[in-house]
Amino acid sequence: MTEKTATLSLVTCTSCGKPIPPGTEATKFLCPNCGEIQIKRCGKCRKFGRAYKCPKCGFTGP
Ligand SMILES: [Zn+2]
Ligand SMILES: [Zn+2]
Repeated sequence: MTEKTATLSLVTCTSCGKPIPPGTEATKFLCPNCGEIQIKRCGKCRKFGRAYKCPKCGFTGP
């Protein structure tokens, strides 16, 4: 075995789709439109104000 399946604890950024390492300036919040999906944004996407899109309702926001 060379790889571990770390997908369970791996959080990916909703904006850029990259994994968010723990301890970074990431933020997460519920979708302001449907309130069912947790939006996660990494520090970079926060800083640059990249748009996110809710996978459930399609809401996009800054
Ligand atoms: Zn990101
Ligand atoms: Zn939504």
